[in-house]
Amino acid sequence: MKNRFQAGLLLIFLSILGVLGYNVWLSETTPPEQNYTDFLADLKNKQIVAVHISGSEIRGEDRIGRKFRTFSPDIPTLMPSLLAAGTTVSAEPPPSLFVQLNPLIFLVIFVAALWRFFSGQSFTGSKIWQDKRFQFRAEPADMKTFADVAGIDEVQDELKEIVDFLKNHEKYNLLGGRIPKGVLLQGPPGTGKTLLARAIAGEALVPFYLIGGSDFVEMFAGVGASRVRELFKLAKKNAPCIVFIDEIDAIGGRRSNGSSSHEEREQTLNALLVEMDGFSSNETVIVIGATNRPDVLDPALLRPGRFDRQLTVSLPNLHGRVKILEVHTRPVTISPALNLTVIAQGIPGFSGADIANLVNEAALTAARQKKQAVEMSDFDQAKDKIMMGLEQKNAAINEKERRIIAYHEAGHAIVARLLPETDSLHKITIIPRGIALGLTQQIPIEQRYTYSLTYLLNRIKVLLGGRIAETIVFHHLSTGAANDIAAATDIASRLVCEWGMSSAIGSTVYRRKQQRFLGSAETGGTFSEATAREIDLEVRRIINDCYAETEKLLRSNNRLIHELAEVLLINETIDAEEMEIVMQCYVNSQKSDKQGPAEQAQIDQSDIDKTEEIPA
Ligand code: ADP
Ligand code: ZN
Repeated sequence: MKNRFQAGLLLIFLSILGVLGYNVWLSETTPPEQNYTDFLADLKNKQIVAVHISGSEIRGEDRIGRKFRTFSPDIPTLMPSLLAAGTTVSAEPPPSLFVQLNPLIFLVIFVAALWRFFSGQSFTGSKIWQDKRFQFRAEPADMKTFADVAGIDEVQDELKEIVDFLKNHEKYNLLGGRIPKGVLLQGPPGTGKTLLARAIAGEALVPFYLIGGSDFVEMFAGVGASRVRELFKLAKKNAPCIVFIDEIDAIGGRRSNGSSSHEEREQTLNALLVEMDGFSSNETVIVIGATNRPDVLDPALLRPGRFDRQLTVSLPNLHGRVKILEVHTRPVTISPALNLTVIAQGIPGFSGADIANLVNEAALTAARQKKQAVEMSDFDQAKDKIMMGLEQKNAAINEKERRIIAYHEAGHAIVARLLPETDSLHKITIIPRGIALGLTQQIPIEQRYTYSLTYLLNRIKVLLGGRIAETIVFHHLSTGAANDIAAATDIASRLVCEWGMSSAIGSTVYRRKQQRFLGSAETGGTFSEATAREIDLEVRRIINDCYAETEKLLRSNNRLIHELAEVLLINETIDAEEMEIVMQCYVNSQKSDKQGPAEQAQIDQSDIDKTEEIPA
């Protein structure tokens, strides 16, 4: 579109140049004007050799060869004097209305030409599909097959039928079977919707026409609709084939009530509906639409005979991610020690496109280090890089909220760093991340088979550390710690009920209180109300004790909180190594202050929850 726009500007520029040039030429070729009285005087003196009369205009030449122009109010009375003077007279009829209107007609044609040019049509038949949006995808080089698609088996199975339709459409037509016209694929971006459509074309060996829904919606009314018609004309000519309309919500959005700005979109949608209703069964054109916003689609699109088949393509689960990793590592030399399941476990929420990106990035990382094969460390690095990309760096968080988050995270990190028997600290960040990454929060807890009491209590303290640091510095409670508190309470109650680690309750295993719903509370419990109260008290005691101890620890290292938070505010993300530098500076300054050293512990640290909600 941009190129066409530039070409349009060039055209306008050239036209202006042309008009200017014409004017110059006109003024060069038009002889100087003489007044009528002087002309009559010259005529009387027999100075005029010849005149040419056109309407009231007289052009002539005098004896010396000078050319002139004048206008006569009354040609007929002039004639006798002209003849008497022996002047050669020639004449032509006055210019017709057509000639007088010539510039106006020219202008109208010019504007129309511009209009058609910008709206993508030419006078010599429509060529709009010759640009890049139109893609003919039957060439083997770009052909995809079902072997390239993984992890979405159910959707793929549903679509195999369509491949069969396309391959054997004559047979189906003979039998009079109803061939589906439209399939709507809905699901998040990058889950393989385009890939699937391409694979169907590849499997059935039919042409594939791809167009983005937004390509239909242009600035000039009627263009979208005519493009739709063009597309279907082409598709029918090349049937059987697949027409893939990406982001179909751009045209197929719910029709508004009367707002004129949507008129164009509506016309386009109507054209699409007409085309889809229009083709007969011997024109095997399968239209596949893709959207990640099925909720905004106009219901008319989903009626029988249109996109009556709707399939959901979801983000892959663990198994799916392993399968997709297998597909994308196929052309890559990977180390035999590489475990794809382990990689897949570390990337919950990744789409197929993210995984393709991950493998590519890992291969590049390995190549940069001139390795023979791609190793786990390359995948780790690639993952970090991609995850960083997923972090919404520009999320609108105001400065005060950022400070609170920084102190909150510093609280978690410091507790984790100072207490023994905690998971090691990887990274502290105050950049909010997508929801999907939040799922990794509890992995350290679930991965171990046995936990020591100290580990569990310290885990609670690490979780509480965020809220406590906030309170110490800002003297207020924010809702950002809600998840932490819930997680801490969860550990405390499992400690009491499941793991029998509380001396007050003993080692009896009690069914979790959460498992009792509504009415079943009185009947279904495996313990009495008195025991329930006892458990509640014990859980609260554990939390309160942990809270008090953590608060003491953080208050005695108040300056460290400030230092770490400031570093976080500047760097946004710091890793374990940088954390050690901050710690070292702090310990050194403590020594020189001759104060008691910080409560030092092993270098075994905690992997705190990296995903903190923004305090409301
Ligand atoms: P969508 O159309 O759903 O936004 P695409 O089909 O454009 O997603 O996916 C982009 C790329 O991601 C594909 O070309 C492919 O390399 C990879 N990909 C996505 N989903 C899958 C999948 N299920 N199996 C294999 N590769 C996939
Ligand atoms: Zn937190």
